[in-house]
Amino acid sequence: MIELTEATHKETVSIFTEIEDMNHEQVVLCHDKETGLKAIIAIHNTVLGPAMGGTRMWNYATDQEALTDALRLSRGMTLKNSIAGLNIGGGKAVIIGDASKIKNEALMRRFGKFVHSVSGRYYTAEDVNMTTRDMEYIRMETPYVTGLPEYVGGAGDPSPYTAYGVYMGMKAAAKEAYGLDSLTGKKVLVQGTGNVGINLIDLLIKEGALVTISDIFEDKIKRVTDRYKVEIIAPDQVAGANVDIYAPCALGGTLNHDSIALLHCDIVAGAANNQLLHEISDGQALVDKGILYAPDFLINGGGITNVYYEYAGNHSRERVMAQTELIYDTTLRVFEMSQKSAQTPHQSAIKIAEDRIKSIGNIKLPS
Ligand code: NAD
Repeated sequence: MIELTEATHKETVSIFTEIEDMNHEQVVLCHDKETGLKAIIAIHNTVLGPAMGGTRMWNYATDQEALTDALRLSRGMTLKNSIAGLNIGGGKAVIIGDASKIKNEALMRRFGKFVHSVSGRYYTAEDVNMTTRDMEYIRMETPYVTGLPEYVGGAGDPSPYTAYGVYMGMKAAAKEAYGLDSLTGKKVLVQGTGNVGINLIDLLIKEGALVTISDIFEDKIKRVTDRYKVEIIAPDQVAGANVDIYAPCALGGTLNHDSIALLHCDIVAGAANNQLLHEISDGQALVDKGILYAPDFLINGGGITNVYYEYAGNHSRERVMAQTELIYDTTLRVFEMSQKSAQTPHQSAIKIAEDRIKSIGNIKLPS
């Protein structure tokens, strides 16, 4: 099993040490003076198929931070795509810069040319600060893009499917922790009321959960309070909130040494990628505190499943929903494995994902 070392997060580590630590196949640095594009395409593993994962645009403080994010996110995609049973590998791209200032048609099309340059080893889609319109610009330069709008034959917004998978994983965790998978009357805190968060809130309210929300933007909070009866807490009160279930649906790294010490919940189950800052030590700290953690890359796989069927050319809502529903059973299997093996749920989920890659890799005949 690959273990991320704490050193992975330090700025002084050599690029090649980081790539070696996580076993990436290829990392491409993209630069274009005319458009101001600075991007990184990280291809982690293509044993199951071409690497697939979205492009994130973020105003990273340093280039090193951007590289680390690309490396961690692409490895996460390998695990996510494998455990979801999809025939695609893991990859991810990041574009460095403030989307509100530098994103435009030329920048996105130049990025599309870079995606094209890796000849279909990497397919992109949306991630943070990317829209279906951006995917259309990329499509003007390369066919290796998914997540296109429905009006041009794409599968549309993946967020409702991601939310549905998180909901399935949360219900499985409730079954494990409380003996019943009902969320009626459970206090659930949704951190981040963006595209996934609001869809998750809808499912939770319909089931009679008592929902608390937190977001850093007023308009995101208002979008929820206009439609649902929820409690609101400030972002700095999230870690110490007294709830049954905490659903991180903002950015990664919210489960760390400091926040775990403050947590007052039975279950953590949310959509954000890379929730555990240090996957071994923070995963273990949750176990030690008696908190059940539903692995992020397992339960947030509904969105990539939607995108996968667009790529495969046989997308239907029913098919994506049915496959996403399997997250419930897989989550229970992960908890069972974790108990039997004395591994954390995160480690057990990694083992299932890596075992599938190994076994499918072995069935390929030598060419
Ligand atoms: P989004 O950008 O629409 O929403 C994120 C929300 O989090 C925003 O409203 C933002 O204001 C809020 N936020 C940021 N920092 C916060 C903080 N400190 N406290 C509270 N709120 C904060 O993104 P999304 O598409 O809803 O995705 C949410 C998370 O799930 C991301 O980590 C993303 O990578 C992950 N994810 C999304 C999908 C998908 O289908 N969209 C799939 C898999 C994983």
